[in-house]
Amino acid sequence: MMLSFLKVPDVPHYWLRNGQVPLPMLADNVLSRPWVKPWLGSHGRQIGGDRRLFGSEALVPVDIEICNGMVTALHSAGSAIADIVPALDLHSGLIWPCFVDMHTHLDKGHIWPRSPNPNGTFDSALAAVHNDSAQRWDFEDVYRRAAFGLKCSYAHGTQAIRTHLDAFDRQGEISFEVFQRLQAEWQDKIVLQAVCLVTLDYFMGPPGERLANLVASSGGVLGGVAFMNAGIVQQLDRVFELAKARNLDLDFHTDESLNPDDMALRLVAEAAIRHEFTGRLLVDTAVVCLCSLKM
Ligand SMILES: [Zn+2]
Repeated sequence: MMLSFLKVPDVPHYWLRNGQVPLPMLADNVLSRPWVKPWLGSHGRQIGGDRRLFGSEALVPVDIEICNGMVTALHSAGSAIADIVPALDLHSGLIWPCFVDMHTHLDKGHIWPRSPNPNGTFDSALAAVHNDSAQRWDFEDVYRRAAFGLKCSYAHGTQAIRTHLDAFDRQGEISFEVFQRLQAEWQDKIVLQAVCLVTLDYFMGPPGERLANLVASSGGVLGGVAFMNAGIVQQLDRVFELAKARNLDLDFHTDESLNPDDMALRLVAEAAIRHEFTGRLLVDTAVVCLCSLKM
């Protein structure tokens, strides 16, 4: 039986029956609890609560008790359940944790109908975005598209999102203002993080320092595109200094040229060691970035 979105009972206490949870999602102490009854393996034998007796990709049939939005009990499917609370039959549907989207560009989302990439290359994507942003990315436009992106994400089960935001000059102020508005509006539904996105040479002058201050005051993450160039080591040093002075985490795009000789990832790692950086550091690849333009 194919189910669409479930209609969860509109009560604080209910059961989800006959669901299946991927084994890696279950902690060892869940499997070993006394109330976890033996499960039947695919061969039909009882295999108990020992993780080693499941296949590594096993799906564990379960009944789950929900109280006030929290999982309060998990039993093997078909276990005795009190009849006094509503129960929803999942018909062996899969149960997963909510998604974490750790790299997207909400500010670039949904521009495709008006600014498509004419030939699918990275350079054309950048040119299309640049032209679109120069003409249309005021507060209302960025807010409307980013808010729709969040609605789509929420509808499909996403609970946390890190978005990069183009942040050259005035655009940074606009997009981080949008971000702060959305972060407040969605605080009960989606955890939102924002990373500024500029080329690293931008950080060498006063505008870069102002951007670092804007990121710090917005609760954001400092970041940029680490294109290979003659000054990249000095640029990385500058970014790490700005981050350390403001206790900011870092997030870089690297090596998006598809040139196998590019080594920005290595240079970022060396800078992190050189600066004894103790914050959180993430480095992204070109693949997710190209895809994000079609959000
Ligand atoms: Zn990206």
